[in-house]
Amino acid sequence: MECSDATASSLEDSTLEPPHIDGQRVAVLLPLPLAGPYEYRIKNGIKLKRGDIVTVPLGSRVMTGVVWGKSQDNVEAKKIKAVLDRIDFPGLKESLVDFIDWVAAYSIAPQGAVLRMALNVKGVFEPPKKEAYYSRAKKQTTKYTKKIKITPARERVFKILNNGGSKTARELRDEASVSISVINGLTSAGLIKKTEQLPKNNIKTPDPDHFNINLTVAQKKAVYNLTEIIKNQNFSITLLDGVTGSGKTEVYFEAIAETLRRGRQALILLPEIALTPQWFQRFKRRFGSEPLIWHSDIGLSRRRSGWRAVSKGKVSVVVGARSALYLPFDDLGIVIVDEEHENAYKQMEGVSYHARDMAIVRAKLVVCPVILASATPSLETRINVAKNRYNCVQLPERFGDAQPPKIDFIDMRKEKTTLNNYLSQKLRNALINNLLSREQSLLYLNRSGYAPLTLCRKCGQRIECPHCSAWLVEHRANHKLVCHHCSYNKKAYINCPKCNSSGSLVACGPGVERILEEVKSILPKARVGLMTSDTTKSHNSIINLIKKIESRSLDILIGTQMVAKGHHFPDLTLVGIVDADIGLSGGDLRASERTFQVLNQVAGRAGRASKPGRVIVQTYEPEHPVMLAMASGDREAFMNLEEKNRKIGEWPPYGRLAAIIVSSKDSLAADKTAHQIGRTAPSGPGIRILGPAPAPLSILRGQHRRRLLIKTSREESLQSLIKVWLSKIVIPSRVKVRIDVDPYNFL
Ligand code: ADP
Ligand code: ZN
Ligand code: ZN
Repeated sequence: MECSDATASSLEDSTLEPPHIDGQRVAVLLPLPLAGPYEYRIKNGIKLKRGDIVTVPLGSRVMTGVVWGKSQDNVEAKKIKAVLDRIDFPGLKESLVDFIDWVAAYSIAPQGAVLRMALNVKGVFEPPKKEAYYSRAKKQTTKYTKKIKITPARERVFKILNNGGSKTARELRDEASVSISVINGLTSAGLIKKTEQLPKNNIKTPDPDHFNINLTVAQKKAVYNLTEIIKNQNFSITLLDGVTGSGKTEVYFEAIAETLRRGRQALILLPEIALTPQWFQRFKRRFGSEPLIWHSDIGLSRRRSGWRAVSKGKVSVVVGARSALYLPFDDLGIVIVDEEHENAYKQMEGVSYHARDMAIVRAKLVVCPVILASATPSLETRINVAKNRYNCVQLPERFGDAQPPKIDFIDMRKEKTTLNNYLSQKLRNALINNLLSREQSLLYLNRSGYAPLTLCRKCGQRIECPHCSAWLVEHRANHKLVCHHCSYNKKAYINCPKCNSSGSLVACGPGVERILEEVKSILPKARVGLMTSDTTKSHNSIINLIKKIESRSLDILIGTQMVAKGHHFPDLTLVGIVDADIGLSGGDLRASERTFQVLNQVAGRAGRASKPGRVIVQTYEPEHPVMLAMASGDREAFMNLEEKNRKIGEWPPYGRLAAIIVSSKDSLAADKTAHQIGRTAPSGPGIRILGPAPAPLSILRGQHRRRLLIKTSREESLQSLIKVWLSKIVIPSRVKVRIDVDPYNFL
């Protein structure tokens, strides 16, 4: 997207303190899905300015809201209520208030819904409350120690508390991978003690000069270029484009260090924060302490203290998921978006926005540089580099002796695999040889569970989700059938649910569990691990699995997309891609690009250290441009072709695109509204409407879904077109209409 030109005109100097609001009324935005602020009367004596945090009455409730500016004076004097109080806390900065306005306008979302993302920390303005902390009990009587056995789980708890510190139950549970009952048991045995304390802020300031690694010449050059950009302290966008294993992380760490030396804050966005414990270890090695982590899974007390500390400038580095963009930074000096091409940056639920694009807007409004890092930059970013809107810093080679892996293709159409076997002879042999030479292997298949479809051989019944138009996926490890769209699950059937035949149900196609079964049948002695979002849910199970690979107590790792992410395993030398074509089908305009990116990323796990890497790609379409590009390593030619296709079709970023999704429990109501929207669609030379049509996922969670796409030339203002268009339509309460500007998901 083209934030750079879109924001330019609307910006003023945001470093100035806004003036106090004069007049008798103010507009206050509440963190609720409301289209705009409400009016309130200013009580005598309170001075308010834009961004101030206030309490106001709403019906019979008292709500916390934010002063948004002058009121429009639309409400009758006798109906208007007064602001109750101004909360004594630094207000939201002008740049954050502007950012919220910007996101709401761009994504056609209610302003209040965007504010809610920024104030999504319950009770953050209340004085901190005491909480239970656990520490090692000083005096332990032998009587007690005898009473309870010191199991490995209990031992882990002690290990964490032995340095004299204290932790909350939640922290202990997560860090020691124990259940709360272990902590309770130790407490009642008198081995650890519980005390009520005010929440501690354990955040130490990362030290920019804690540990310097010797950068290579190419890395030094990249760091030099980035440092020059940071010295400027201006808004700018830079792509850090480097092959997998080239040291992008090390290089952007130097950009963070430079920002810290200037006393400003740094924000790093990672696509799937919980998945990269190695990132945190490296950060700690470089800076001596950990950054503040921000994502939706963090406990409330840590969210509260973190939010407050960020706003008071006491935290200097935040690493987080999308939502970290809405934190109230005091003095943000750099934003880094790692793996900028990742689709995980696109939020699909609630307010739909792309965090990479919004990171650029955020940086523009606070006036600081942005770095986008990737080995396979998105088409949008490449085009912006080509048009000189973005700078580009390159790292063309892997670090050290590491060479790019050798890639072989297996044409699965010619392969004679037996029934229910999915690994080609060549891949099998390579796995065997790798095990013999004590090197590690990785098998990638982007499909969790055992089999994507269960079919009755007798009556032909396909087992579907009762709430979605989707098949249930068999998860054999826990004997369940699961819907991957709505999480519905049930015990696996023994007999066919339709014709009741026994022994007639067959699993069709492979998931990772089935590949695991096959690997075990070929290599019964191999130590094999599974990494998927359902088998490795918690941060700790991921850390444990990664430790196992690092300590070489695993020979083969099998996994979904999760294995593609940033991991660095020096002894991993073979990568097998079981089904490279998954993801190529379907009417998604980025299907090829995305497949190319993920295949590259997975392939990039092989041979990252001194031992050479090898990749075996199984495909039914070896002549597909994605496979040809993987084979030749010619990223440029492939991306140029993609670019050409988008240009011809006037797809983004050559045109503007939004999806309108109509849904209702009542399929007729969904149809009616969708058709009404279709009939009243705007028309004109630069405008094309596609649909309405049933969505590919035509029923989701019991909602019938219809889709329309509006595609316009870049000259059109897509947002105003849509607003005017939809404002004329009366939408019944049982129908929901969602707008997705710059859609990435076409299901
Ligand atoms: P990328 O992010 O480009 O995939 P990384 O930053 O993860 O690359 O680097 C790959 C590996 O090489 C990491 O283990 C990293 O610590 C190591 N590495 C990179 N540059 C250096 C260096 N100059 N000195 C020592 N180790 C390095
Ligand atoms: Zn049947
Ligand atoms: Zn479902």
